Amino acid sequence: MYSLAFSILFVSFIILTLIVRFWLASRQIRHVLTHRSAVPAEFAEKIPLAAHQKAADYTIARTKLGLVSLLLSTGVLIAFTLLGGLQWLSLHVFQLTGPGMLYQLGLLAAFTVISGLIDLPLDYYKQFNLEQRFGFNKMTPGLFFADMLKGALLAAVIGLPFVWLVLTLMEKSGALWWFYAWAAWSAFQLLMMVLYPTVIAPLFNKFTPLEDMALKQRIEGLMERVGFASKGLFVMDGSKRSAHGNAYFSGFGANKRIVFFDTLLERLQPAEIEAVLAHELGHFKLKHIIKRIVMMFALSLGFLALLGYLKNQLWFYTGLGVDPLLLPGQGNDAMALLLFMLVLPVFTFLFGPLTSLSSRKHEFEADAFAAQHAQAADLVSALVKMYEDNASTLTPDPLHSAFYDSHPPASVRIRHLHAAAA
Ligand SMILES: [Zn+2]
Repeated sequence: MYSLAFSILFVSFIILTLIVRFWLASRQIRHVLTHRSAVPAEFAEKIPLAAHQKAADYTIARTKLGLVSLLLSTGVLIAFTLLGGLQWLSLHVFQLTGPGMLYQLGLLAAFTVISGLIDLPLDYYKQFNLEQRFGFNKMTPGLFFADMLKGALLAAVIGLPFVWLVLTLMEKSGALWWFYAWAAWSAFQLLMMVLYPTVIAPLFNKFTPLEDMALKQRIEGLMERVGFASKGLFVMDGSKRSAHGNAYFSGFGANKRIVFFDTLLERLQPAEIEAVLAHELGHFKLKHIIKRIVMMFALSLGFLALLGYLKNQLWFYTGLGVDPLLLPGQGNDAMALLLFMLVLPVFTFLFGPLTSLSSRKHEFEADAFAAQHAQAADLVSALVKMYEDNASTLTPDPLHSAFYDSHPPASVRIRHLHAAAA
């Protein structure tokens, strides 16, 4: 009874998500097409028509590919759950391993490998067709597959022991297992924040200390003005993979480092780089990063408590096409984890705009911070160059943007910056 009700609820949310996403995508495509023929007046002197039209075409192509990917992933989700894919996989793994931890790890590993293989053709197409067509791809197929292999090895080396820990807690730590699992998850996240910049990222990219002395002095001046201590300024060879440019922070505590993509340094003037960095420092100084981490921890506590309840409900499994009982009286913790991770996004998708909203608020605050500690005009000209270089559309559909975008539309951001400068 509950099981059928849950299946119906699940399918209803899938359909609702599909409708909303197709509707937003069609609005976005229509809006971008309508404004394709002319550069918006406020950018007319800064961005050539050809670049504006490239951005329009790139946006539309990406939106369309996003829909293909959505259809594929929805089909895969239904095949795994209601059509019995996970049940089939579970039985076959069980036949190989017998009951116990080996079965549980085997099930999670087999699922991860299979879904990775299903995603592979579209990932490949995206890189070597879409990104290639618009001049963004700098990867060779060799590098693409080397990255994939390295990523899979890393996931196995880091992920399997952690999953083993969580499964052990689920089995042995009693009714409050979800709380202990949450503590383990939070510690794991913090550990990754330390390991990522120093151990993991260098496996994929080369990081060299920033050598441009004039620029370095300029940046150190800015950091002193705003009171920011860092373990160093690095340049990353982002051009190895993509022409898209960026700058970011990583690490925390005394381990913070600032990383510039080489593609960004090539394109921006020193004053513009300083303004972009002032924006990033704003995120740090205004505690956006710590707020985001706290928010993430609070949410995951809630979700794990929910899983603590769902794990013991038979309808949670049967409603998603799985019979959890491999042996009489034994639960199936790995299956509970897997189902939860698979279906959670279906039920949380409609809350996405709340995250986008809070993120856009932070972007405005960081821009205001940059205007205070560097020149707003420099940030504006840097933004215009970055929009042009990344072929980001200047004319997104307002509703599409409100739903998805972590950053406010360029024109709105620049209007705010001009107001701050005045
Ligand atoms: Zn930002």
